[in-house]
Amino acid sequence: MRRKRVIRDLFTDTDWAPLRRPYRKLARLVDGGCGTFHFECKRCGWDSGWLELCLSVTAAKRGMPCPECNSTSVPAGAGY
Ligand SMILES: [Zn+2]
Repeated sequence: MRRKRVIRDLFTDTDWAPLRRPYRKLARLVDGGCGTFHFECKRCGWDSGWLELCLSVTAAKRGMPCPECNSTSVPAGAGY
């Protein structure tokens, strides 16, 4: 706890911040299995429809970047 405070203080007075990847807004898995998946975004209501993807169910449950919410930072389907 004390160590975290020290690290944070190192960056408060500088004019640069540590580089971080922009936060990805993920669409959640609604239904799927056997290579077909259906994602929905809870923020904007984007609906992927049924997609045929080479993903395991576990990987699909992590979510898919929403193309609407990430339109400026992450292109649709990036990483998949
Ligand atoms: Zn969205």
